[in-house]
Amino acid sequence: MQAGARVAVVGGGIFGVTSALHLDRAGYDVVLFERNSDLLLGASSTNQRRLHRGYHYPRSIDTARSVLDGVGSFAAEFPESVVSSCRRYVAIAREKSLVDAETFLGFLDHMGLEYYEQYPPFLRRESVEISLRVEESGIDVDRLRGLCWRKLQRSLVEVRLRAPVELSDLEDFDHVVLATYAALNHIETTIPGRAMQYKFEVCEKPVVKLPPEYRDTSLIILDGPFMCIDPIAGTDTFLFGNVAHAIHASTVGLLPLVPEPLIGLVDNGLRRNPSPTNFPLFVAGASEFLVGIEQADHMGSLFTIRAVLPHVEDTDARPTLVHRINERVTSVFSGKISTCVDAAREVVRIVGDPTAASRPL
Ligand SMILES: Cc1cc2nc3c(=O)[nH]c(=O)nc-3n(C[C@H](O)[C@H](O)[C@H](O)COP(=O)(O)OP(=O)(O)OC[C@H]3O[C@@H](n4cnc5c(N)ncnc54)[C@H](O)[C@@H]3O)c2cc1C
Repeated sequence: MQAGARVAVVGGGIFGVTSALHLDRAGYDVVLFERNSDLLLGASSTNQRRLHRGYHYPRSIDTARSVLDGVGSFAAEFPESVVSSCRRYVAIAREKSLVDAETFLGFLDHMGLEYYEQYPPFLRRESVEISLRVEESGIDVDRLRGLCWRKLQRSLVEVRLRAPVELSDLEDFDHVVLATYAALNHIETTIPGRAMQYKFEVCEKPVVKLPPEYRDTSLIILDGPFMCIDPIAGTDTFLFGNVAHAIHASTVGLLPLVPEPLIGLVDNGLRRNPSPTNFPLFVAGASEFLVGIEQADHMGSLFTIRAVLPHVEDTDARPTLVHRINERVTSVFSGKISTCVDAAREVVRIVGDPTAASRPL
């Protein structure tokens, strides 16, 4: 397709914004449609805010490689959103971990990921096989949103907020890029034969205040149904994660099924005293590993829908997939945020070459 052609990008999360910026730079006439009142209000802000470099994925070398490959271009595109100031630890659970310490260290060496053995003061050493200080960063979502806006305002991209669209609204456009994440099938199901099944998980992310010794520290326990804590940049609060207890509902299919009590909570900001909440289970699960976690002060919880490929429990793979759906429509299904610039480059390649085949990032 010729530069100057009209492209609609649907979805103002980080993948849609980055694709819109790259298409604009490539000379296309771009309109970005977002159904919410601002950009990055979906999964791009309700997540654990880790700028992954691969430590998290010892069972999926492809995922680890894709995030490690992507992180440099993300940091170059959105430098002010990268938070490098906190101490980051990865520990391997002594029991029930799917990966043991020796295998994990072998994986890190294979990937060239930096580490040294170190234990945060609040970690129960008897509960882990090893704890490592690692080189990873976080994401400041507010800064990321600000940067997205500044870049869009300097570009020729037209941003339309409060603009939920269907394919039938976009017939004036030469090409459509779908970057709607958990809502991908709301549009893909209208394209015969192209909808894919996903696993949809309705997730809770409690926001907590923690005792002073936790300050500026991020910790994840691998590799299985364990916990993590990550400071929220610019605040004295943390995001509390738990692989099992975060999930209120999980379904495999074309569209997510949100249980009735959670409908108003999803992608709707911090909910104080949420009902339902799994917060007591988060604390119980974490107390196996952390001293003093019972003092966590629950400020409220964020809720969102995670979409992942179905049946990847063995590897926990999180690929980012850019697919040419037909000659007019391309979809971006995101795995991890650090791949968004690579995904945008792939979108430009596909839009620019009507014969281009999809390829993994
Ligand atoms: C609980 C959780 C924790 C995670 N933790 C991390 C992490 O620590 N690090 C990491 O790298 N990744 C993490 N991820 C994954 C990451 O957050 C997502 O892959 C990424 O943010 C998704 O970005 P996106 O732009 O594809 O989707 P979104 O940010 O969800 O954006 C999609 C947008 O499309 C809009 N939209 C949908 N349908 C329409 C329509 N018809 N018309 C107009 N607009 C529409 C939505 O309103 C939304 O704004 C996590 C995900 C979850 C759910």
